[in-house]
Amino acid sequence: MKDEDEDEVVLICLPLAAGVYFADNIKGECDTCGCAIAWRPHAPARRRICLPCAQKDFLDSGRPVEIRVTAESRAEIRAFIGAAGPRDPGTRH
Ligand SMILES: [Zn+2]
Repeated sequence: MKDEDEDEVVLICLPLAAGVYFADNIKGECDTCGCAIAWRPHAPARRRICLPCAQKDFLDSGRPVEIRVTAESRAEIRAFIGAAGPRDPGTRH
């Protein structure tokens, strides 16, 4: 498997219209359509696009979709939805 090249990583971001879920989000514009988006400060990527543009890109390309989540994002999402701790599969009884 080829090493991941940050130039090839596309970060899929929620449009700001969807709300601000983390106070320290970085705000900017979708690299495809220019709408206002937000992303986590630790998320790697040179190209950032909104969720609707990602859907269109992937449907148009016909390529398989590979989605990865960083460990930091995984932990933040678990904490946000209240699933951290006992519901983590690694700690389930
Ligand atoms: Zn967009």
